[in-house]
Amino acid sequence: MRKVLVLTETKEKKLRGVSQEVLTAAQRIAEGGEIIAVAIGSEATHYAHLLGIYGANKVYILGNEELDVYTTDAYTQALQQVFDEVQPEAILLPHTAIGKDLAPRLAARLRLGLVSDVIDVQMEDGEVIFTRPIYSGKAFEKKKVVSGIPFATVRPNNIPVKENKVTVEIVRYPVEIKDLRTIVQDVVRKTAGGVDLSEAKIIISGGRGVKSVEGFKPLLELAKVLGGAVGASRGACDAEYCDYSLQIGQTGKVVTPDLYIACGISGAIQHLAGMSNSKVVVAINKDPEAPIFQIADYGIVGDLFEVVPLLAEEFKKVLVNS
Ligand code: FAD
Repeated sequence: MRKVLVLTETKEKKLRGVSQEVLTAAQRIAEGGEIIAVAIGSEATHYAHLLGIYGANKVYILGNEELDVYTTDAYTQALQQVFDEVQPEAILLPHTAIGKDLAPRLAARLRLGLVSDVIDVQMEDGEVIFTRPIYSGKAFEKKKVVSGIPFATVRPNNIPVKENKVTVEIVRYPVEIKDLRTIVQDVVRKTAGGVDLSEAKIIISGGRGVKSVEGFKPLLELAKVLGGAVGASRGACDAEYCDYSLQIGQTGKVVTPDLYIACGISGAIQHLAGMSNSKVVVAINKDPEAPIFQIADYGIVGDLFEVVPLLAEEFKKVLVNS
């Protein structure tokens, strides 16, 4: 039995799906021990009680104003204070923009080893074993932390969420934040609303084959019908058909949706690095030799400007009747 500390996150006042996955991973490690969740910022009170559904026995609400917007310094100070108070035997953070930045800083501060971007967590012979992809998702390695306690960041959309309803104790825990070296004046979002790419269950992605900004319109329409998000290859971003915030791949976002529809994307290794672990891949390309077909579960050889609107139309009929 272990005491596990977990950081949870919200977005636009809603609990992010990855928070539930991190709590599920914590259930496996805790093996009946205590799960302590940290909920940060003034929104925390709105969702803290929900964390008990996913196994959190205790929620520490850190409501300091300085934590409303993420800064490495403030969050490191805050989590270190919770760590000192709780003395956990394992720590899990979401592998989000915040988790990716915070975890190494915290690991250095606490002198712990860290396994980042894990897609699975299992107990083997009483030890916590993390699985993470390597070589751009071509292979997987199993790792354990040998310096200090198990500490990892968990990639969204990989651990099936398991409920384990427990009574949750909510603790308001004021932390002391001082000597901040940076202050965020304002946050300007590039994309407003819509489905978050890194947590989307369905992604319609466009490549250089979409040919223009206008060419993305049928993809946006299909995404709307399916309730998915739109992504892109770097080819499409470099050609200025869309914003770089949509880029998927080695130097873009890594995604693991249930369904990935690649439209006019050749399937370069750097693109596959960001999406090859999607559960089902559908490729639409007019070149039957395009490498994307080698990793696709379903392939449609054809012109995306004919195929994508047809798919949208057919899905609309099916979804309206279901
Ligand atoms: P292309 O390779 O030009 O493919 C376009 C495809 O569209 C073709 O297969 C063509 O047959 C098809 N097509 C054209 N018209 C139609 C039509 N009407 N209907 C259907 N199909 C059509 N790339 C990424 O995506 N993400 C990354 O993160 C990334 N990081 C990189 C990092 C480095 C260091 C380097 C060197 C490269 C990186 N790249 C990345 C670039 C990558 O190597 C490719 O150049 C890029 O992925 C190609 O994009 P594309 O498939 O859209 O374009």
